[in-house]
Amino acid sequence: MILAIDGPAGAGKSTVSRLVAQRLGFQLLDTGAIYRSVAWMARQEGVAWDDGEGLARLAAGLQIRFELSGETNAVFVSVDGQEEEVTREVRAPEIGQGASEVSAHPPVRAALLELQRRIGRSEDSVVEGRDIGTVVFPDAEVKVFLTASVEERARRRYAQYMDEGIEGMRLPEIEVIEAEIRERDARDMGRAVAPLSMAADAVLVDCTALSQGAVVEAIAAQVEEKLKGG
Ligand code: C5P
Repeated sequence: MILAIDGPAGAGKSTVSRLVAQRLGFQLLDTGAIYRSVAWMARQEGVAWDDGEGLARLAAGLQIRFELSGETNAVFVSVDGQEEEVTREVRAPEIGQGASEVSAHPPVRAALLELQRRIGRSEDSVVEGRDIGTVVFPDAEVKVFLTASVEERARRRYAQYMDEGIEGMRLPEIEVIEAEIRERDARDMGRAVAPLSMAADAVLVDCTALSQGAVVEAIAAQVEEKLKGG
C-alpha cells in the first residue's frame, strides 16, 4: 500500500507524514530528503547545483536509507561505500534551496525515479513529496495533497528551525523564510518536469486552520477505509 502525501514546502507535511506512518506502522519515504541528499553530495564532491549531467551521475549512484525512530526519520547516505548519517546536514536551509535547484533538472529526476519506486514498493509506505501522486506513484492507493497559506507555512518553518536549532547557522528572519517559500513554490510549480500539482484523484487537505491531530486522523481514516476495501 502506498499513501502519497504531496504538497508545497512547509505545509507541515513532514510531521504529518511521520505521525501517519507511525500510526499505521508504515515506513516513511521522505523524497525531499533524497533531493536534499543529492544537493549535499554535490557540495561534498564539488559538483555545481546547475550542472544537470554531473548531478544526474551523483543521483544515479545514490544509496540511501531511512530509519524512523521517535521524532526523527534519520537519513543515511553511502559515499564511496562508506555510510554516513546526514540527517542534520540535509535539513540546513541552504541545502533546502540547493535541493530545489537540483530537483529542477530532468536528468536528476529521471535518475531518482526508480530509486523512489524501489524503496516505496518494498513495504507499506507513506511517501512524502511533490510529485508522488502524479509521477512517482500514479497508482498509489491513497493520495493526499496537503497545503496551508504561505504565512502559516513560513510561521511553521520558522518554528521548525527554532526546534531543530541548526548548529552554526544564523536563524533567518520570518520575512526571509516567507520570501523563500514563495520563490520555491514558483520554482516547484513552474518547472517543466514533474511540477508541483495536485493529482486529479487526490484528497485536498488544507491545514491552515486544522490541528495536526485532526489532519493525521483525517489521513489515517482514508487509509483505513481503503484497507477495509472501501
Ligand atoms: O520537502 P523538502 O523541503 O525536503 O524538499 C526539498 C526540495 O526538493 C523541494 O523544494 C523540491 O524542490 C524538491 N522535491 C521535489 N520532488 C519531491 C520532493 C522534493 O522536487 N518529490
